[in-house]
Amino acid sequence: MRTVIGLEVHAQLLTKTKLFCSCSAAYFGAPPNAHTCPVCLGMPGALPVLNERAVEYALKAALALHCEIPARSVFARKNYFYPDLPKGYQISQYEEPLALRGYLELPTGKRVRIRRLHLEEDAGKLLHRPEGYSLVDLNRAGVPLIEIVSEPDLSSPEEARLYMEELRRVLRYLGVCSGDMEEGSLRCDANVSVSPDERLGTKTEIKNMNSFRAIEEALKFEVARQRALVEKGHPIEQATLTWNEALGRTELMRSKEEAEDYRYFPEPDLVPLQIDDAWRERVKRSLPELPAQKRARWMQEYKLPEYDISVLTDERSVAEYFESVVGLYPHPKDVSNWMMSEILRLLKESQTMEIALKPEHFARVLEMVSSGQINRTVAKDVIAESFKTGKAPDEIVRARGLSQISDEQALAEIVAKVLAENPKAVADFQSGKEAAIGFLQGQVMKATGGKADPKKTREMLLQRLRAT
Ligand SMILES: [Zn+2]
Repeated sequence: MRTVIGLEVHAQLLTKTKLFCSCSAAYFGAPPNAHTCPVCLGMPGALPVLNERAVEYALKAALALHCEIPARSVFARKNYFYPDLPKGYQISQYEEPLALRGYLELPTGKRVRIRRLHLEEDAGKLLHRPEGYSLVDLNRAGVPLIEIVSEPDLSSPEEARLYMEELRRVLRYLGVCSGDMEEGSLRCDANVSVSPDERLGTKTEIKNMNSFRAIEEALKFEVARQRALVEKGHPIEQATLTWNEALGRTELMRSKEEAEDYRYFPEPDLVPLQIDDAWRERVKRSLPELPAQKRARWMQEYKLPEYDISVLTDERSVAEYFESVVGLYPHPKDVSNWMMSEILRLLKESQTMEIALKPEHFARVLEMVSSGQINRTVAKDVIAESFKTGKAPDEIVRARGLSQISDEQALAEIVAKVLAENPKAVADFQSGKEAAIGFLQGQVMKATGGKADPKKTREMLLQRLRAT
């Protein structure tokens, strides 16, 4: 049976101010209704003024998604009554959106077509109280959103998740959306249908999926539910469903009969939006290298495994950091290994995406390892300390006396001592238990505080053990 999924994504734009007024758009954590004015409160007579930066951000997203940009787009009123919408309508775009017919390339290489991308304002938030009433917070009312509608090209819940992850990556690369799904700055609704043949089945719409996991789980549940109905010969009812995360199931929100009619009409308070070639080209030239391009280039240039590439290109800042380090220490796989283990761990621990370790310091540590000046264990400490304090690796190594002991004389004395103190391991080795050398090597490392050159230590141990 065939599964067909299309996604409608709402992304909040990271502008300083709202879409049609100069109120701050940074509503998260602000006291209720602190960021409001007559425009976003919907006072009679207040007129909207379009935020140019929001248009610029929407254009960036549209061009990164390879959309066509018509020379003219038109704002429209989407009418519905709900307390989070003080005007009684939302300013959106309908028949003439900002952008049309693009695509997003998934890491698998599949291209998912984008039907349209348009600008609109967000609604406020309701806080439902257990006492039986609701509070209204209009700080979010008027925050700029782009709505990105895909064609029904996705053929599984896993693929829908990949699409959402890649879309988030692109928007974050562009710096136009924070992509935080839990805070609601990136939201997703899905249209789902199943069909035993090439025809499209009746679709349902699922709302309220607040994480990548929720998207995949909700779609899996819904696909299974629809398949079971179709297999029994029962019809699918067209409906809007909501994902109940706690119970792990979709629930009916409204049926087709209750579907709303928004009575769209052109917004009389705003002139049509004109985007000329010069503006479009200027924004196009300002686009950074996008994740799909970066992955393809890295494959060619650095010959890294696909896994490394996917991990290191996920965040633009991490990818750019990798390239600065490789510029100084041109061994991509080596840099990749250290980054994926040490750097990503330190980032996770410090809960930021800002790498506090200077690229030149990181490159210097790797050089010290490859020249034998410090061993790998010490290198991890030096990286961690330089990450925290910003100190240069040479300074750390000097101050803490961390240089690797590769001086034959000094090492020979320690090796002799370890052999003398561990007669059982020596006997084991000589009776054929070669693994005993690992224990002895560990003892040498312990005695030197991890500073012994592991290769030399092993050579020396073998030499001595075989000599006796
Ligand atoms: Zn306002």
